[in-house]
Amino acid sequence: MIDGEDPRILVVFVDARINSSTIGGKENLLFKKKKLLRSLISDICMAMSDSTSVLSFMELALKQAMLALDNLEVPVGCVIVKDGVVVASGSNRTSETRNATRHAEMEAIDFLLDKLKKEGLDSSQVAQKFFTCDLYVTCEPCIMCAAALSILGIRKVYYGCANEKFGGCGSILSLHEGNSINSPSSSSGAWGYQCTGGVLAAEAISLLRRFYEQGNPNAPKPHRPVQASELLQKMHSSIDY
Ligand SMILES: [Zn+2]
Repeated sequence: MIDGEDPRILVVFVDARINSSTIGGKENLLFKKKKLLRSLISDICMAMSDSTSVLSFMELALKQAMLALDNLEVPVGCVIVKDGVVVASGSNRTSETRNATRHAEMEAIDFLLDKLKKEGLDSSQVAQKFFTCDLYVTCEPCIMCAAALSILGIRKVYYGCANEKFGGCGSILSLHEGNSINSPSSSSGAWGYQCTGGVLAAEAISLLRRFYEQGNPNAPKPHRPVQASELLQKMHSSIDY
């Protein structure tokens, strides 16, 4: 298949070729081949569609990260998606709030929890909602956020770049592996969730690079002048926010 070609066009093309080659007693065999091909192409279409959705939602998370950058915050952003719809979003607000726990994920989680409580849902119903939600975040969740996501029972997490200093989804700890089966019938524990990293990672790193190149206005004053190259080196070794 040619890159960028709409797979639906290929479905029509294969369909036409099979129909035009149906001769005599070969209809049954051709019918089976046609069915198999259509199933295969349908799977390809669905995979491409899923992939496109993941990128689209990560782009929305990147927009949240840009909002943080505009506010002189470490640029990390996220969205929470349920049934293909964004139900919450958040960007890092640790400097504005002077609260080191106000990471993008916490902002989005708290927004969604408030929203569900206002809808009158009890804790069990809230838990069931989270079991059907996916998180898209520009940087691997830290240990705190990864643990919170595990307790809440999020279904999937897609992240951009790795957080090699504080990452809780594989870099330092693997809290996404959990210790319970992710199921609404489970009553307690740290539930596991699927985790996929590296989604638009270059874009996420680019935003962080811009932040560190312009200098973190909220960082402690260095005892000596710091070169931009040192900041970049620091950024690559640890995403500290
Ligand atoms: Zn965090």
